Formats: sequence, structure tokens, C-alpha cells
Amino acid sequence: MQPVFKAMIDGETIAAAIEALESGWLGMGATVAEFEAELARFLELPDNRTVVAVNTGTSALHLALLAAGVGPGDEVLTPAFNNLADMQAILACGAEPVFVDVRLDDYGIDVTGAELMIGSATKAVLPLHYMGFPCDERVYEFAREYELRVVEDACHAIGTRRDNRLIGSEGDLQCFSFDPIKTMTCIDGGAVTCSREDADKIRRARLLGVVQPRERQYLEVGRSLADGGFGGYDVVDDGYRYHLANLHAAIGLSQLKRLPEWIVNRRQIARAYNVAFENLPIVTPEAELPQISMFGYAIRALGGERDELRAHLWEHEIDSGVHWRPAHWLTRFRSCRGAERLPVSDLLGSEIMTLPLWSEMDEEELACVVDAVWGFYG
Ligand SMILES: *Cc1c(COP(=O)(O)O)cnc(C)c1O
Repeated sequence: MQPVFKAMIDGETIAAAIEALESGWLGMGATVAEFEAELARFLELPDNRTVVAVNTGTSALHLALLAAGVGPGDEVLTPAFNNLADMQAILACGAEPVFVDVRLDDYGIDVTGAELMIGSATKAVLPLHYMGFPCDERVYEFAREYELRVVEDACHAIGTRRDNRLIGSEGDLQCFSFDPIKTMTCIDGGAVTCSREDADKIRRARLLGVVQPRERQYLEVGRSLADGGFGGYDVVDDGYRYHLANLHAAIGLSQLKRLPEWIVNRRQIARAYNVAFENLPIVTPEAELPQISMFGYAIRALGGERDELRAHLWEHEIDSGVHWRPAHWLTRFRSCRGAERLPVSDLLGSEIMTLPLWSEMDEEELACVVDAVWGFYG
């Protein structure tokens, strides 16, 4: 059976995990600081921006929204065609999602439509870079005009460039995930890229609100919590238990080394799929591939044939996914503002499916998928 996603756990990742397990300090420590620094380097962050690592992409979204000032009674504009984690992160702030539709070319936020949904409680906008394709950058002009904060869901887009600049290296706040199916994994992990000021808030909130010196936050292996006057700490804000552990950071560091190569491979696979499907009733997001870090290969199966195509692939031992059912189709979100009219999200909800794509997928595996898809269309 060919899976839709596959994590790349090589000998180096396993060795890194074993070393971390044997190091004697499994919680958050110096390895997390090292992971943050390497991630900042990979993402080419300028000096005024930084990385805060957390335990999941969902907590990255929650803390980024809180840092952006989202709270009870506020509204956050986001595409209904988005991950559930984004919806739950908004609810966790005591706020409500307000849905906007997506564009039919890149499946990202429709900025013009977003304008119609602005209300007095609108605090922030939460766009998504679907499958690694950067969303319409005019979302920033829109946000400036209405004085909104921007939290970008960049969970699919690690390594994607827009006009040669990496997602995360500019803008307001961006959230990344390193869960088991992402382009690189910490098993579980996440990160926020943002200004140093927002990062200070997020650093406190990720560890129970505790204000403590950097040396204690990122404890070196072998140093005791009683060392150097580490006894004194304070709490001034609400906090959560969202910090990343050394074990996960060590896994992430080993994965980061392979990431550039994986991004190239994935792009090649996407290009091969694009060529193979050129004459089939299949549509994919439009963008210039050289700039894109592909998280997954999503297609629209036209003509109402999505479910039959998936069944056909399954019979040929090829799994596929649906990313996603739009949020306004789900009971909790059915009556959110904006849910009444989302024609493109509705269309994608019924046509979208994800084909297998992973970092070291070989030509034979790719050919199997291509043959099975061609087999379906005869
Ligand atoms: C994976 C993912 C998340 C959530 O990240 P977790 O690490 O699983 O909590 C949020 N948004 C998108 C687009 C994702 O793909």
C-alpha cells in the first residue's frame, strides 16, 4: 500500500534521538535553543526577527494569535478551506472564526472577499499557504488598511519563497508544524517566526507563563536548576504547557540537515505529476514551482469523479487523502459568520484529493500512481 505521506526517519535521526534520550535532560534545554537558531538560519531571518519553538503547530497558532492580541469576543478572518487546527486555535483564544472564500488559482485566501467580512470585532487575519503555494501577498495591504494583525499558517510552506524571500523571513507572525506527516518532523513540534517583541510574549506563554533568565529556559545538560540563582522566577501572564522538549529538538535538528534536498525532490515529483496529468481532467494550484516547497500534491478531480477515482486508487493499493472538508461543513462551524456563501470552498470540498508525495518517493512509486490515475481515465 502506498501511503499519502511518509516521514523520513533515517539512521541519523534515530542516532540523534538515542543521543538525546541518553543525555540526561529530556525537557526543554539547550538543544531547543540550538534548533531555534538553526531554523532561523534556514529561514534566513533578519536580525529583528526570531524563532520560538513549541510542541505542535496548533500551539504555535494559538500562541501567535494571543501575541497578536486576539482574545474573547474577537473575530479572526480565515479561509473555511483550512486546517481544523486553525479553527480550534481561534476558539482557544475565546475568539470566533469568520470565514472567507479561497481563490480558484492557488486555493489561498480571497482578499477581495475578505474585505466584505470585516466587522467591528475583527482583530486578525489568518491566511494559509496551501500545500506550500504562497497565498496572495495583498493580504498585507488589506491588513494594513483595516489595522489587522496577520498570522500566517505556514505549516505547509517551510522553504517556500515568494519573490525570492522565504516565508517566515518577513511579515507579521508565521506558524510552522513538525508533526509526523510534515515535510520535516520533530515527531511533534512547531514554531513561530515573528518580531523579537512578540517572541518574548510567546516564550513566556509557552512555559506556564514563567518569566526566567534565558540560561534557565534553555538549560545546558549537566547544569542543575539550583545553579546560579535559578530559584527565582515570576509569572505575569497566562501560560500553557506548550514548550518543545530536547528530544524533539534533536530530531528536528537532524531533519533540518536533509530538508534542502527533500524540498528539491518533492518539487521534482510534483513536476513529474504535472507533466503526467497534463491531458487529464485534473487541476492543480497554479504557481511557479521553482519557488515552492511542496508539502503535498493536491488535485481537483473534475466532473464529480473524485470519490470514484479514490476508490480506484485504493483498489490499486494507493492511498489518497482529502485535505480538507471545509470547516463550514462541520457542525461546530456551520453558523460562523461568512459560512453562508463560500462557493469555491464548496467546490474544493467536493473535488479536492491528495495523491502520494514524500521526500524520497522513487520513480517506480511515482509511476505506479501515474499509471493508476491514467487507468481510471482509460
Ligand atoms: C499540520 C497542520 C497544522 C497543525 O499542526 P500540528 O503540529 O499537527 O498541531 C495546522 N495547519 C496546517 C495547514 C497543517 O498542515
